[in-house]
This record gives sequence, structure tokens and C-alpha cells, in this order.
Amino acid sequence: MFQKELNHPIFQLVSEESQKLGFQTFVVGGFVRDIFLKRASKDVDFVTVGSGIELATAVRNRLKKAHLSVFKNFGTAQLKTDDWEFEFVGARKESYDRNSRKPKVEDGTFEDDIYRRDFTINALAISLNAPKYGELIDLFGGVEDLKKGLIRTPLDPKITFSDDPLRMMRAARFATQLNFTLVPETLEALKTEAHRLSIISQERITDELQKIIKSAKPSIGFTLLFDTKLLHLFFPEMVRLQGVEVREGKGHKDNFYHTLQVLDQTCEKTEDIWVRWAAILHDIAKPATKRFFPGEGWTFHGHEDKGSRMVKPIFTRLKLPLGEPMRRVINLVRLHLRPIALTKEQITDSAIRRLIFDAEADLEDLMILCKSDITTKNKEKEKRFQANLLLVEKNIALVEERDRIRNWQPPIDGQYIMDLFGIGPSKEIGIIKTQLKDAILDGIIDNNLEEALKFVIEKGKELGLQRNEFGI
Ligand code: ATP
Ligand code: MG
Repeated sequence: MFQKELNHPIFQLVSEESQKLGFQTFVVGGFVRDIFLKRASKDVDFVTVGSGIELATAVRNRLKKAHLSVFKNFGTAQLKTDDWEFEFVGARKESYDRNSRKPKVEDGTFEDDIYRRDFTINALAISLNAPKYGELIDLFGGVEDLKKGLIRTPLDPKITFSDDPLRMMRAARFATQLNFTLVPETLEALKTEAHRLSIISQERITDELQKIIKSAKPSIGFTLLFDTKLLHLFFPEMVRLQGVEVREGKGHKDNFYHTLQVLDQTCEKTEDIWVRWAAILHDIAKPATKRFFPGEGWTFHGHEDKGSRMVKPIFTRLKLPLGEPMRRVINLVRLHLRPIALTKEQITDSAIRRLIFDAEADLEDLMILCKSDITTKNKEKEKRFQANLLLVEKNIALVEERDRIRNWQPPIDGQYIMDLFGIGPSKEIGIIKTQLKDAILDGIIDNNLEEALKFVIEKGKELGLQRNEFGI
């Protein structure tokens, strides 16, 4: 039935070696699911009723170029060849303890192994055992659910989620990646078992969250996490964005749904997960900065600054990297209003130049974020805002082009030269400054600090200046 899809030579080898060892072996999980979704996958999981390590070792002896790794503690083995990865594991039965997601594991039958799987679409298997080689085994109607786009647990969803609460995050993740819907019973169990997430490490939660954010439309996952109150457990700052307050008949927009729209729109423009994170966090300080001015309305003054200061605590708690990626997110959150501001006032070269200087390498990403930050339902307005931002981009390009000549600066300025020699403003300083600028422009020395310093000290000597020992 699935002979054609099992086109890698390893499947035949696994079948033969498995038979020699007297094992029953199956392809299971994501690989089988992805055949139906027409997503070619090179990650294959084999379950064998026997020893996964023995089977992998036997296959390795037939497939010389494959690299074998054995994980004795887990009873699993992995073969890597070209860009394929094959996992071998013995069929197992699991029983759970309330305080850990790590089950007690014992050898089990093929059915035991399928019963412990998280969703029907992940519980499909293909037999590698003659004469049934290539036959699909679908114990829970996984194919039907794939066709209908449904996420459903094979057994009682409450028990499934309570046993291993990470499965709740996985449900939200698969729903997002595949654009699938949770069946009502499974959705309901997500709500009643949400509190069980407390036994899952932050690293694992964040790992699933990152997969949601990498998807084409992360709002699907965030909406699910919000509706089931899972989000409340690890990302309360985002939850606080939700809601609209009305005073004197004046409301403000719901910043949670606004943020999700900005996030989806950002995802249409970039795969970069950190720009996507900037979208998630761009308005994160709005609840904390919200004020109502009678007769006027709502303001969120300073939310970009306060928001940028909230990034580090959030990243720390979520165990996200604190280096360069976070620096970019902070910069983008801090600057996210600036390009819009440029469309409102009289545009001057210096305002644009300041933005170029502040945004540094993040300018392009900043423009992506700003364009995505337009969520008005008024088509006329939207067109006008987008056109304004395009104009800002044009102006930036113009100023950058002009500045390359006009704003060019050597790496050492007059003050630096004065400090270096321990003297005040004087004719000598002017001479050295001009000589340095000319030397760089004429290509006599390179435009860097080291060469400039050497050059300046030498020229100072020629003018009888001594390097200030107590200075730089
Ligand atoms: P991906 O495309 O993300 O790799 P996948 O379905 O292959 O998706 P894996 O995490 O690689 O996901 O897991 C492989 C298989 O193992 C799944 O298809 C599922 O059958 C099973 N599985 C993984 N994690 C769990 C879990 N927490 N509970 C139950 N079954 C699981
Ligand atoms: Mg996988």
C-alpha cells in the first residue's frame, strides 16, 4: 500500500533484519502522518517488538555509510545517513506517576506502543513485516482525522494530558503548524487539565512555543493557549494585553488581538523568529502605561521604553537566549513608534539620521515591524499609512546615500587628539586632524582606530608633541 513512499533502501533492510531477529517492526508517528500531508520528511521512527538497539546494529552492518549512535539508558538507537535520521526503539508500555511526566516504562506489545501516543494523527503506523509490508495500521481513525483536519487524543484526553501535560502544548503546536482544529472533547480537557502544566520544565514549554511562533500563522496557537488558560501559566504579561476599557464612551483597541494580528502580519514578511518576538512584545507595556485623560481619551505614553525594559525579565523567565537575539528584540520594541512618528511631523534629515543611527543593523526589521503594526480595518486609512511608511523608507535611503559623503567621520576626532597629547585646542590639533582625514580619504591608511592612532602619534611627534602618559 505504501511501498512507493518507503523509497529509501533502509526500509527493506529494516524489514529483512527484523525478520531475521524474529521481531515485528513498524514505521510510526510523524513520518506516516506527513505522507498523508504530502510533507516529505527525512525523520523516521521505527518501533520494533524486540530490541531497538539490536535491530539498529544489524541494519548498520548492512548500510555501511550510516552512522550509529546508541543510547543504552533509553534503550534507543539512531542511524544517520545523508540527511536522513532513523530512530529505533523497542515497543513500550507506559504508566505514569502524578508528579512527573517521566513514565515507568516496560516492554510492551505493538498496540501498547500505539496506545501511548498523543494524537490520532500521530498514532498511524506502517508495517514492515512480510507479507504485510507497506500496509497501514490505523487503530484510532487517524486518517479520517487528517482528512478533516482534527486533533484528537486516542484515549481519554483528560488522562492523556494529565499523564504528560506537555501534550497540551503539543496540541496547540500541531493545531498551529497544520491549521487543524481540536475536537471539543480534547479542547475541553485542555481547559480542565491546564494546571497540570506546572510539572513541565520551562525549556520544554518554550520549545513548543517557539515552534508555534515559527509557524505561518502563530495566532492560531496563541488564541488556543489563551482560551484554555495555558498562556496564563507562563506568559501573564501577554494575557494582560487582552480586554477593552471604556470611559466616557471612549474605548481603546484590544491589545491582545491587535498583537496577534501584528504577529501574523510580521510572519508574512519574515521568517526571523526574533522579529516575530518583537511583534509579540511591541505593546507589552500598554497595560502598565495606560492612562485616561477626561475629555481626551486613552494614552499609553512611554510604552515603548517600558516595554523594552520588560523584554529581559520575560526572556529570562522563558529561558530564551539573552545575547544578540534579545538585544535586537529590545531595540525593535524601543524604536517601534519612531518610523510612524516620522510620518507625522515635518521630516528633517537629522530626524531620519537619528533613526538610522539608533536602529543600526535593525533598521530593515524595524520597518517590517512598523508595516505589520498597521491593523486598522479602514481600507482607506490602511493604504495611507502604508504609503507613508514607504515614503519614510525612501527618505531613509536618500539620507543614507547623501551621508556616505557628507557625514563621513574619521575614527579619531579632535577631542581624542587633544586628550592623547594632553593639550588644549590649538593649531597643531587642526593640522593633525586634517592630515588624518586626508590620509584616510586618500587610502594611505585604513579607516580603523589602530591605524589612525599610529598615524596621529607619528604626526604629533613630527610637530614636537609628546603622548600624554596619564591620558589615553
Ligand atoms: P515533528 O514534525 O515535530 O517531528 P512528530 O510527530 O514527529 O512531529 P516527535 O516529537 O518527533 O513529533 O515525536 C514522534 C512521535 O512520537 C509522535 O508522532 C508521537 O506519535 C510520539 N510522541 C512524541 N511525543 C509524545 C508525547 N509527549 N506523548 C505521546 N506521544 C508522543
Ligand atoms: Mg519527529
